[in-house]
Amino acid sequence: MKKVLILGSTGSIGINTLNVLRNFPEKFKVAALTVNTRIDLLEPQIEEFHPDVVVVKDEKLASELKNRIGNKCKVLAGNNGLIEIAAVLDYDIFVGAMVGFSGLAPALEAIKRGKVIALANKETLVVAGELVTGLCKKHNAKLIPIDSEHSAIFQCLEGEKIDQVEKLILTASGGPFLEKNKEALANVTVKEALNHPKWKMGNKITIDSASMMNKGLEIIEARWLFNITKDKIDVVIHPQSVIHSLVQFVDGSIKAQLGLPDMKLPIQYALTYPERLQNNFDRISLPQIGSLTFLNPDFDKFECLKLAYDVLDSGGTAPCILNAANEVAVDKFLNGSIKFSRIPNLITKALEKIENHKEPDVETIFECDKQTREYVLALS
Ligand code: MG
Repeated sequence: MKKVLILGSTGSIGINTLNVLRNFPEKFKVAALTVNTRIDLLEPQIEEFHPDVVVVKDEKLASELKNRIGNKCKVLAGNNGLIEIAAVLDYDIFVGAMVGFSGLAPALEAIKRGKVIALANKETLVVAGELVTGLCKKHNAKLIPIDSEHSAIFQCLEGEKIDQVEKLILTASGGPFLEKNKEALANVTVKEALNHPKWKMGNKITIDSASMMNKGLEIIEARWLFNITKDKIDVVIHPQSVIHSLVQFVDGSIKAQLGLPDMKLPIQYALTYPERLQNNFDRISLPQIGSLTFLNPDFDKFECLKLAYDVLDSGGTAPCILNAANEVAVDKFLNGSIKFSRIPNLITKALEKIENHKEPDVETIFECDKQTREYVLALS
């Protein structure tokens, strides 16, 4: 029986993780669940999965939940609660399903204990890829990607050697604005940007998909996860989202992983790796899909994608600056204070303004994140 800790249990990855676990009650037990604020959704999860402890990031809502559920399970609060459970609780698999930079600190605690890290929170690798992969090596922690593209590549690389890889090819759906030109893209509404054609996800990642920053973050994620240089990472637009990514080897052979656009599949693989377990999820029908199409990404239109490639050249804290600036810019777009086309502008300004530190330690990364946020928050 594997004990699973889920950080971010009421987001789309967290809910899908519980959907997977529900099928295998004899194999997994939920050790802990955490949420930012959504205690109304957490309460039924506590009833069903009986975690030993839950963490609510918002301190006031944590006490409210305590009053509601009595002694059904232990309730902790705040960032300290997140770090505490990652650092001391008894568990086997850490599922990092939180959004954004805040996933980093608890993930570092799990890594230091040599746990299996099933990682959906790509920002952890974007802001601290070198540090995180170095610590994983040192403490013998295993990183298994949940992000569908990286899960696809991880599966294609099983039984292969990374030095025989010519190229990793990340697929991208192209998001809701694939057909729009650059001028039209500047004035899209929040509602249009949140209307993703293929994947149902949280707001932050849906906006990132519309700007293609999501693919940019995934390039950086792939660079660290598979220890491969950026010249060997390509992006191809594949609107059907059936092929989740591909690996091309030195002999020209290409392996691909296909599936329905459903996160339950990569989540289950991360939880059961290296085994595959039978499930009753929907199956793909190739004749029904008919044809698959591919096209090159437009770097001029999707400036965020180009910025992500650029920060890999800069190295150091540049990816951390890119990520922090993007998180603040996306918030500003969502609350209506900036236009969509302003997102890459704010990121560029931050990259010009904030100092890049080479080979950063944890403190430097946290400081850089904070400094970038304050800077971009003050911009309009
Ligand atoms: Mg993805």
